[in-house]
Amino acid sequence: MENSKALRSWLDEMNLPHPLVIAGPCSAETEGQVLEIAHQLKDTDVNYYRAGIWKPRTRPGNFEGVGALGLGWLKKVKEETGLKTCTEVANATHVKLAIENDVDLLWIGARSSVSPFIMQELADALEGTDKIVLVKNPVNPDLALWLGGIERLYSKGIKKLGAIHRGFSTYEKSKYRNVPEWQLAVEFQDRFPDLPLICDPSHITGKRDMIFDVSQTALDLNFDGLMIETHTDPDNAWSDAAQQVTPKRLVQIMEDLRIRKRTETDKSYRASLENCRAQINMIDDQLINLLGKRMKVSDQIGELKKENNVAVLQSRRWNEILGNMILEGEERGLSEEFVLRMFKAIHQESINHQERIING
Ligand code: PEP
Ligand code: MN
Repeated sequence: MENSKALRSWLDEMNLPHPLVIAGPCSAETEGQVLEIAHQLKDTDVNYYRAGIWKPRTRPGNFEGVGALGLGWLKKVKEETGLKTCTEVANATHVKLAIENDVDLLWIGARSSVSPFIMQELADALEGTDKIVLVKNPVNPDLALWLGGIERLYSKGIKKLGAIHRGFSTYEKSKYRNVPEWQLAVEFQDRFPDLPLICDPSHITGKRDMIFDVSQTALDLNFDGLMIETHTDPDNAWSDAAQQVTPKRLVQIMEDLRIRKRTETDKSYRASLENCRAQINMIDDQLINLLGKRMKVSDQIGELKKENNVAVLQSRRWNEILGNMILEGEERGLSEEFVLRMFKAIHQESINHQERIING
């Protein structure tokens, strides 16, 4: 992935607007439903029309998609509305059929990107394609797995590559359907600043009321676009009913979002970030230096204790230090828990040093 600079260019090369907007139903249900939604999205900010036709469901028995039949409906969407189309692919047959039927953008779902075998099969099937390919993060918060999948595709000459952040599943209860773990998305951008990153607030929140806020956070964090599930009758959708919005609501969301100019803000953001990081590096250097100095003094104490045959651990003195430091820490906004943990670690290192001296 050393050549990641080339990857971003497809967004600009294709003259795609910022943010890129992908919208449409979770699932294609009927031809009428697919076309009705598409017509309502036609004259909006939407650039790509999504509809899942092969649906990975956690448990069997739920609606598993209309299959290849839906490809004809997506063709009609393009003919009638001019919207570009996209769908999820999960195996080599899906890829072949989607490409043959002129789907413009293929995305790989979270249940596929967890598996290196599936990612390799997809990479082989997609080799050399000029379609846009977006890789959703794997269901579990594993950055390396996500990047590994993308690397498999990149090494097959797929240039219009990007990623979709759709949150991560957790065992613990949360207000999200899939917790965003924003720090992972930030790290992702740090590692590959030129790989377009789209946010999917529908799958992150699982609830239509939370979609606006998550979309705003994503834009504030420099995401390149949004994928928002949209349905003319969300409550009666055959899948993911609670997280879909109406086309009207989508238009409102797009109107209300504060969209930051990408290039200028990026530059000043990057410059400020670089500046803060330089300061952190300097302070970390000082910290290590100081700790080293502290340990040298502690070594001298060890020598003194050895000469005078005194025990290493002097608890009264140690409790005094701790008490003082907790107070000092409080004044500087450091929690008692942190100060305790840090000083216990420092103290332990001092004891180790002194024991080595006394017994050495
Ligand atoms: C979807 O986009 O409808 C979908 C199934 O998403 P994910 O792979 O993120 O669960
Ligand atoms: Mn869905």
